[in-house]
Amino acid sequence: MRYKNKIILILISTLLVSAFLGGCKKEEDKEPLSKTEFMMDTVMTIKLYDKKDEVILDKAFERIREIEDKMSITIEDSDVSKINKNAGKNPVKVDDEVYKILTRAKYFAELTDGAYEPTIGPLVDLWNIRNEGENNKRYIPSKEDIEKALNKVDYKKLELLEDNKVFLKEEGMKLDLGGIAKGYAADEVKRILKENGVNSAIVDLGGNIYAVGSKNGDEYWKIGIQNPQEQRGSYVGIMKVKDSSVVTSGDYERYFKINGKRYHHIIDSKTGYPSDNELSAISIISKSSTDSDALSTALFVLGREKSKEVLKKLDDMEVLYITKSGKIYISSDIKDRFYLKNDNFELKQN
Ligand code: ADP
Ligand code: MG
Repeated sequence: MRYKNKIILILISTLLVSAFLGGCKKEEDKEPLSKTEFMMDTVMTIKLYDKKDEVILDKAFERIREIEDKMSITIEDSDVSKINKNAGKNPVKVDDEVYKILTRAKYFAELTDGAYEPTIGPLVDLWNIRNEGENNKRYIPSKEDIEKALNKVDYKKLELLEDNKVFLKEEGMKLDLGGIAKGYAADEVKRILKENGVNSAIVDLGGNIYAVGSKNGDEYWKIGIQNPQEQRGSYVGIMKVKDSSVVTSGDYERYFKINGKRYHHIIDSKTGYPSDNELSAISIISKSSTDSDALSTALFVLGREKSKEVLKKLDDMEVLYITKSGKIYISSDIKDRFYLKNDNFELKQN
C-alpha cells in the first residue's frame, strides 16, 4: 500500500473508532442513575437523568422514610397511629406536615362527599387489604361486620383543632392515609430534586409518578399507562408529559377474586364494599401528586359521570379513564399526547 493511502486508512479508522466511542459515551450519558427501595409498602424507584448524584438520591429516600415514619398506620409511634390510638379519647398534637396533609385530606373528603375518605381505616382492616395475618386470608366480610365498620367511618368526625391537635371523635375510628401519602411523598421528592439542581428525573413511588422536568433538554417523557387487565408493566398506551405527575388508581392492585369477581383495595365509603362501577382504572395528570392521589381514589369510586361534577370545581386536572369493557376516555386537553398501543382498547373522547 502506498504511504498516502496508509495515512488515509489510519485516519478513517481513527475517525470510525472515535465516532463509535463517542456514540457509546452518549448512550452511557443517557443511562440514568437509578435507585429502588421498598418503602410505604411498595416498590419505589427514582431515576436521575441529568445530575447523577448518589447523595441527592439518598436525600430523596431519606425524605420518603421520614414521611412514612409520620404517616404510616403500621408504624406504632407514627403521628397517625397516635391519633388512631386516641380515637374517642384525646386530641393528639401532631407534626406540622401531618396536620397539613390531614387538612388536604379533609378538603378532598368534603369536595367528593366522602368518596375519598381518610377515616376508611376500619373498612380497610375488615377487608384485610394489607393482607396481614397468618394465612393471608381474604374473604368477604359479613353484612353485620360491614355495618359496624361503616359506623366508624366518617370524615366529619375528624377534627382538626388549633395548635396542630387532631381528634377522631369516636372510639374505633381509624385514619388511613394510603390514598394520599404516596402522592405527597412524590411531591416532596420532586421538590428536593429541583432544589438540588435536578431538572430531568422520573420518580415512581409505586405507580405514583412524577416526571420531573423534561427528557434530554426539552423532550416529553413517555409514561406507560398500565393495562388493568394485565400484569404490572404491560401498557394500554403512552402518555407524553413534561414536569407533571401521573397518578393511577385501579382495581388490579391488591385484589382477590371470588367467583370470578375482583375484590380490590379501594372501598366505597357509602356501601362498605370495594367500589363497583364501570371503571377499571383512572389516571390523573396534574402538577400536584398529592391532589392527584386523593382525587384518583375518589374519582375511581365515583365513576365517570359523577366525577365530572367534582372536576368542574378543580383547575388543571386531566383525566384518563379505562373501563372494564376496554374503553379509554380522555380529557380533550391531553388527547393529542396519548398514544394507544393496544388493539384490545378503544379510544373515546371524554
Ligand atoms: P394505590 O395505593 O394502589 O396507589 P390509591 O391511591 O387509590 O391506590 O389508594 C388506595 C389505598 O387507600 C388503599 O390501600 C387504602 O389504604 C386506602 N383507601 C381505600 N379506599 C379508600 C377511600 N375510599 N378513600 C381513601 N382512602 C382509601
Ligand atoms: Mg390515590
